[in-house]
Amino acid sequence: MRNTQPSTELPQMARAVSVRRLFRHGNRREQLTITALWLASLAASIGLGLASVIYKWSGLPLELGGTELYITVYPPLVICLLWTLTCGWWWGAIPAYLATLTLALYGGMPWPWALMFSAANPLGFAVMGLGYRAIAISRNLTSIGAMLFYVQLSFVASIFSSSGALVWCYTNRIDSTALLPIWQGWWLGAFLQSVFLCAPVMAVLWPRLEHWQQARPQLLADAGADPRGSVLRLLGCVAIGVLVYGFVTLKLADNLLQVQAAGIPAALARSLEVARDTTWAFYWVFALIIVFIAVFGYHMFIHWQTLTNKLLSDLRHANQRLYLLAGTDSLTGLHNRRVADERIASEWQRAQRLGLQAALVMIDIDHFKQINDRHGHPTGDEAIRILASEIRALSREIDSACRYGGEEFLIILPQADAEGAYTFAERLRTTVAAIPVPSEHGAFHFTVSVGIALFDAEESSHDAWIERSDSALYQAKREGRNRVVSPAAVAA
Ligand code: GH3
Ligand code: MG
Ligand code: MG
Repeated sequence: MRNTQPSTELPQMARAVSVRRLFRHGNRREQLTITALWLASLAASIGLGLASVIYKWSGLPLELGGTELYITVYPPLVICLLWTLTCGWWWGAIPAYLATLTLALYGGMPWPWALMFSAANPLGFAVMGLGYRAIAISRNLTSIGAMLFYVQLSFVASIFSSSGALVWCYTNRIDSTALLPIWQGWWLGAFLQSVFLCAPVMAVLWPRLEHWQQARPQLLADAGADPRGSVLRLLGCVAIGVLVYGFVTLKLADNLLQVQAAGIPAALARSLEVARDTTWAFYWVFALIIVFIAVFGYHMFIHWQTLTNKLLSDLRHANQRLYLLAGTDSLTGLHNRRVADERIASEWQRAQRLGLQAALVMIDIDHFKQINDRHGHPTGDEAIRILASEIRALSREIDSACRYGGEEFLIILPQADAEGAYTFAERLRTTVAAIPVPSEHGAFHFTVSVGIALFDAEESSHDAWIERSDSALYQAKREGRNRVVSPAAVAA
């Protein structure tokens, strides 16, 4: 039954470190260390962000296989992305936002634009965070699968982060021909920094942090309750990221080409036109394929998840049935002794806590050995079944009727007083005695002896309660059988 629990060895969806829970359940050392590190990261992000503007670390040319690429180095990105990956979006998004806001205002960007511009990196981080919340994949970047996922996610996140480049160029009145290196530098810089700087640090840092987080689950926020929504958002982000990347790159290159192509010979201009048209046609086909893959991927995921949910619910039902079967007596369909013991214990607790009345009724067929000997075992079974069906017919919905042993039954009567329990037992005794049991030697009758014990709040355990009902039953046997021994009868 325990195997239905999810194994802890499977990678889990990422859960953020919750600030509220850190200050409620964390120990002093954790609180101080995390706060100090975060404040230091905030200061470093703001300082390094300003340095990147003052020393112009943006749009640095880079020769790669003969082509010139431009990259932007922005250290706050590395620091804040690490916070996002290890502790959650807010942890990285706040310092990233403040660092960019500071440098934007320092650079003279108007307030409203600066506020928007600063959201670029948090937007990229949101994609990273979403990826790890939607897909249960390890952030331990030492395996190929985990690394591939990280690299792909980094690419999409970088596209989102680079939205800042467009705001930057617009507010700085940079014309569209100069936009391409800035935009390229922005996303490529973000991508290369997250792959070549963040990833190695994560590979070293994460196993330890993961160990700490696994040991301190009370500090983590709850896992997202809507996996379908997360996956849909992730697929949407990936599709939009890739499409925007393609579109902006092509559009900017196109603008550049049109400016540079002014005055070239007509034949060359026509070839250029054909090349441009082919490229755009390719882009739109590519866009359709991306959208198709995203939609298809989502449907696959939903199908797979529905199937898994159905399997889980079948398993739960099967387990429930198994549990019921394990607690049911096969001859009579009543509860067996295991359930009887559980029910007595819980009724005892309930009566104790709420100050309620309750009664235990213990029943045993008289001279059952003789019935077996005279009429055979199958007829003995039939007598047991008859008694069981009368018990079921006479007891109330809230009563628990159990086959306690061979031909011994136990009924728990919640909220029953001495009189109620006695009335029930007497009715059962007389009803059973009047029922003929068919057999090869003609029909015969059998009788039962009954012992009743009322709940006693002074008693220290439910075992004593059972023992008293057993003693009452044996008193009934001693006194001649076919009778009920109960505190009510004694009192009467
Ligand atoms: P008493 O009046 O003192 O209860 O006498 P008794 O003969 O009924 O004595 P006891 O309660 O000890 O007898 C239990 C007998 O019930 C022993 C066993 O052979 C028989 N028995 C137990 N389980 C079953 C069953 O499932 N089917 C049948 N046919 N007999 C059973
Ligand atoms: Mg008996
Ligand atoms: Mg018996």
